[in-house]
Parts: sequence; structure tokens; C-alpha cells
Amino acid sequence: MLKIDHLTKRYDETIAVNDLDFEVKPGVVTGFLGPNGSGKSTTMRIILGLDHPTKGDVTIDGKKYENLKSPLHEVGALLDAKAVHPGRTARNHLRALAASNRIKPSRVDEVLEFTGIASVANKKVGGFSLGMSQRLGIAAALLGDPQVLLFDEPVNGLDPEGIRWIREFFRSLAKEGRTVFVSSHLMSEMALTADQIIVIGRGKLITQGSVDDLTATVQGTVLVRASNLTTLTKALLAKKATVQSTSDTTISVSGLASDDVGQIAFNAGVVIHELTPQRASLEEVFMELTADSLEYGASMPGDVSHE
Ligand code: ADP
Ligand code: MG
Repeated sequence: MLKIDHLTKRYDETIAVNDLDFEVKPGVVTGFLGPNGSGKSTTMRIILGLDHPTKGDVTIDGKKYENLKSPLHEVGALLDAKAVHPGRTARNHLRALAASNRIKPSRVDEVLEFTGIASVANKKVGGFSLGMSQRLGIAAALLGDPQVLLFDEPVNGLDPEGIRWIREFFRSLAKEGRTVFVSSHLMSEMALTADQIIVIGRGKLITQGSVDDLTATVQGTVLVRASNLTTLTKALLAKKATVQSTSDTTISVSGLASDDVGQIAFNAGVVIHELTPQRASLEEVFMELTADSLEYGASMPGDVSHE
């Protein structure tokens, strides 16, 4: 289990992480979702001891990274797939990592198999596609067979086949009881990959829960097609609903459940031809949740943009 305990990270004027507080549990895939510049990578670097908190703490199974006896056996991570010496072969890269962490060489072949890159193990990493590099990065993260795994934007730039593979792979790691923490700036991707989702914006926790919980936090609208829209709209407005005209024959109603809309129409003597509750899409939920942080992020000087 990972525990992020009132974590704050400040870089001069920028607060990259602002009093973040949450837990990441084993046995499920947890998505770490936020727009670019919201503090995901900073949080992951701090978890891995690559950066120091300004305030607060991070613990991995109760211990700080610097107190882990053999870090690679306790936490594995993929932060930047392209950060590997291009002249090395995949196998030699993993062998060097294994040797410096007292991991037996046979484990190298195991992780090459798991990640489906055994056939290119003797090729130079410089010639690898992004997908192959991601697999190699995941192989490296798995070398020490750790219980806790972090992946920073692992699907960026992957083709659909690669994305599907990664998704299933994460699920299988979670099924083995591991803690799997995956960041992304795409809600649609996280909805398919993660069981639990933690949403941040401007370095702050916005919300957390299951995908269904998140969709439910944003009320959907009700699409209505009816005989007399003018009368119906008046009646709905009187009940404090918000009404938008969506075409000549339809309106979109928010702030009321579909049952209430039907009753109000009945009372007003309006014949309903269609009444359809519309669930907010996850992308809409995400946009709504992070709207404030996006505005801020876009105007922030020196913001690093990631692709
Ligand atoms: P994300 O991974 O969600 O895109 P980051 O953690 O990379 O976000 O960045 C969060 C904020 O912190 C951004 O405004 C970024 O510019 C800033 N930041 C990140 N790392 C540094 C650094 N080393 N020095 C100064 N500012 C940084
Ligand atoms: Mg990042």
C-alpha cells in the first residue's frame, strides 16, 4: 500500500503538489488522473525518493523510500520509457540493473518473457519503437518482483494494440495482489484501465472513488421531446430546473430527475413524445471537475507541456 500524507511540493513560485492526501490500495488498479501540469509526475518522483517534499510524507508499506532495504524489491516504476542508453541491448540493460541490485540473472529472462520482448532482447534499445520501450520499462520495473508498481503516463503514444496489452497487464498485476498506480491525463483511458480513480488539479485532490462513483457525482440531463415546448419550459423553470433548447422539437433539462420532468409535463397538460435521461460521459465529468485547474494551468508561466 502507498500512503500520500499531506504532501506538498513547492518549486520557487510554483506549488506543484498542494497538501495531497490519499491512499493507494493493493489488489486494484488505481488511476492517477489530472490535466498536464497538475502534479502527477512530481508526486511519483517523490514516492520514488527522486525529489524531496516541501511538507508531508510518502510511505510505501509503512516505510519511506530512503528506509527501504532493497528498493527494487519493494517498488518498481516506469517514469520515462526513453531514458535508457540507446546503444545497449534490452537484455544488457536489464542485466546491468539486475547486477547492481543483486537480482539473479535468470530473472531478466523471466521479465523479458512477461512483457513480450524476449524476441528483441538482443537488439539495441535505440532502435525500439515507443511501444517496445514501454515494455522494456515495465520489464525493468518488474525485475525485483515488487508489490508496489508506479507507471507515469504509460499509454502515451502507444497504438491501440499496445494500449490493450498494457491494460490487461496492469489488471493481471493487480490480481496478483500488487498495488498498481497509473497516471494519465485522459479520463477515457483511465475509465477502461483503472478500478479506482484519484483526480487532481493544480496539485490538489479534487475527488476519488470508483469510475461509477465519479460519473454519479455529476448529475446528468434529461432530453425531452414534447408537444408544447414553450408551456413545458415555463413549467420547468418555475420548478428551478435549467432548460436548454437543443433543437426545434427538443429541450435538455438539468436539475431534475426524469420522473419529475414527466410529472411536471403531465400537470401542465403537455404530451411527452420522448423522455431520455442522459448520463454524463466520463470525459464531461473530468472536464467539469478540473475546469478551474485547467484555466489556471493554461495561464501559468513556465508550464512544462507533456505530449
Ligand atoms: P504532470 O505530471 O501532472 O503533468 P508535473 O508534476 O510534471 O505535472 O508538474 C506540476 C507543476 O510543477 C507544473 O507546473 C510544472 O511546471 C512544475 N514543475 C515540475 N517539476 C518542476 C521542477 N523541477 N522545477 C520547477 N517546476 C517544476
Ligand atoms: Mg507528468
